[in-house]
Amino acid sequence: MSGSATKHYVGRFAPSPTGPLHLGSLYTALASYLDARSQHGYWLLRIDDIDTPRNIRGASERIIRDLEKFGLHWDERVYYQSENLARYFDIITQLSEQQLLYRCTCSRKSLAALNPHNPVYPGICRHTCPDPAKPAALRLKTEDIEINFADRLQGLIRQNLSRELGDFVVQRKDNIVAYQLAVVIDDYQQGITDIVRGFDLLDSTPRQIFIQQLLGYSRPRYMHVPLIVDEQGVKLSKQTHAEAVDTEKPEKTLYRLLRLLRQDPPKILLKAQVEEILEWAVARWNPQHLKKIRAIH
Ligand code: GLU
Ligand code: ZN
Repeated sequence: MSGSATKHYVGRFAPSPTGPLHLGSLYTALASYLDARSQHGYWLLRIDDIDTPRNIRGASERIIRDLEKFGLHWDERVYYQSENLARYFDIITQLSEQQLLYRCTCSRKSLAALNPHNPVYPGICRHTCPDPAKPAALRLKTEDIEINFADRLQGLIRQNLSRELGDFVVQRKDNIVAYQLAVVIDDYQQGITDIVRGFDLLDSTPRQIFIQQLLGYSRPRYMHVPLIVDEQGVKLSKQTHAEAVDTEKPEKTLYRLLRLLRQDPPKILLKAQVEEILEWAVARWNPQHLKKIRAIH
């Protein structure tokens, strides 16, 4: 993206094309859209499609169509992660030349058998030379330092990667670039200043910040929104949350989502059109109301 460095706010929604938009993904999309537009920012759409075994044929087209029905128009063209593979592999080569990566042939099963209660990767292949004939993942060497950041909703988050997680995979055994690395490269390249996404990705953030630091990238602001819970604070069931959204009555769904985002939409909005609802919501957007549901995850 040209000239992005001068833009004060560039947000994005980055769905994976693993199925249609469901209420939970639309909830996050709406939060990120409202946050961007309320600050007169840019809002980009990126399709995170590099995990090819998980992609569902036709899902990106459907996501794009559905976002349009909900009036969530993005700036610029749709960006696909799969266009950026060469860049990811360049950076993997660069990290490798800096001696920051190593091959790892451990299987999930062998690691679990070794230490069933400890999810920290013990660094086995960091100190041995695994069989060059075996398929290997590439792990990034972590450091024994605290990574911390202030999330706009969740407050101060800290993690010591080497103690709490261990060296982590940046390229999988099937040669697919790991989400943690790809997302950092794309967000940087697209000039993203603000990441608004679901709480389920909060614990990925320290890894992403660590990679940004290694690559000398600037750090975006983060806001992780609570997972979707109903008006009474009860977590919506997997079923309700995972069902494809009804695009026949987008107004009704938007109204419901605004309630779930604790924006207190007035009843009169039930009679409004999509554009009017969004206009209201952009003008009133206050993500701090989401703190009311902070306790439920
Ligand atoms: N593509 C990721 C997902 O659908 C989200 C990426 C992100 O927001 O960082 O879970
Ligand atoms: Zn290993």
